[in-house]
Amino acid sequence: MKALLLTNDGGFKAQVSQVDEADMPAGDVTVALDYSTLNYKDALALTNKSPVVRTWPMVAGIDGVGRVVESSHPSWKVGDVVVHNGWGLGETRWGCLAEKVRLQGDWLVRLPKGLTAHLAMGIGTAGYTAMLCVLALEDHGVQPKSGEILVTGATGGVGSVAVALLSKLGYTVVAVTGKPQEEAYLRSLGAAAVIERAAMSEPGKLFQKERWAGVVDAVGSHTLANALAQTRYGGVVAACGLAQGMDLQTSVMPFILRGVSLIGVDSVMAPMAKRQRAWDRLARDLDPAMLGKMIEDITLEQALDAAHRLMASQVRGRLVVNLRPSPAPVKYY
Ligand code: NDP
Repeated sequence: MKALLLTNDGGFKAQVSQVDEADMPAGDVTVALDYSTLNYKDALALTNKSPVVRTWPMVAGIDGVGRVVESSHPSWKVGDVVVHNGWGLGETRWGCLAEKVRLQGDWLVRLPKGLTAHLAMGIGTAGYTAMLCVLALEDHGVQPKSGEILVTGATGGVGSVAVALLSKLGYTVVAVTGKPQEEAYLRSLGAAAVIERAAMSEPGKLFQKERWAGVVDAVGSHTLANALAQTRYGGVVAACGLAQGMDLQTSVMPFILRGVSLIGVDSVMAPMAKRQRAWDRLARDLDPAMLGKMIEDITLEQALDAAHRLMASQVRGRLVVNLRPSPAPVKYY
């Protein structure tokens, strides 16, 4: 089968290769994949920018959607359409940038009603993580009437989906971006205001004027420190990313004087009930027309170049990788 293979034999290489299906890891469900996607972590792996891959050779790709072609798992039968996110794929186990993948049935989510396979990968881990962030805000009491919500890294995958979801749910969304030329795009997703990245990404005071009722942060570092310092009394900050950096220099002041909550969000090992809840809400609360605006379709052969663009912050929204043998992406079921 065709796969995007990463090797590290006397030097790192990423290339579309023929691999033997017999070399796929053990598992109880085999899936013929229709689409995968490129997330930030996929791009890190494809460009070898950080040590995402732990065993070699590795088939990249943390997300996939496709039809079950073999199953000995009680929940899945041949022909079922399944969605996979995370669980170490593309890191410690062969992933979904391939024509087929072998998985554990306990990791799979059924394609929710109302979503096509193509849209499910338009969402992918980035969009599902955006939903986990929105759920974190809701679960900690943030409501549309609470006040403005800040979304950082707004033109990226997590950011774009978060802006679209929150605005559809009635929140007033303020988007932070390093791409001021994309203001019209962010407003079309529902952002009420757009602020330039530099206003948030430089080191700031540890305690600042209150503004945000909630924050979805995909970038970390000084941006997250400033967001915490500007969060209103009782506000909630959902932190999921490190596009600016993994450091965080802050103080206890927002926590002890304003009762601010900092909630960590992980998608990779999230338990099944949480995943199912997030996917059900995505099918209900994300407008497919908004999602359509975010998607750029690419082929497996274009994935490596696209990964370099993503690392250079030159991608807007989401990249969907077509894995079907036919040249044009066909969007059925
Ligand atoms: P993208 O590359 O699509 O988006 C990241 C965005 O961050 C960019 O588009 C850009 O948006 C902004 N950005 C890039 N560089 C910087 C910088 N130096 N300073 C400030 N902002 C910057 O990635 P994703 O949306 O897929 O992922 C975002 C982050 O979330 C990543 O760090 C990723 O690892 C993390 N993540 C974590 C998950 C989890 O389970 N916790 C799951 C999924 C993602 P703009 O130009 O608009 O400012």
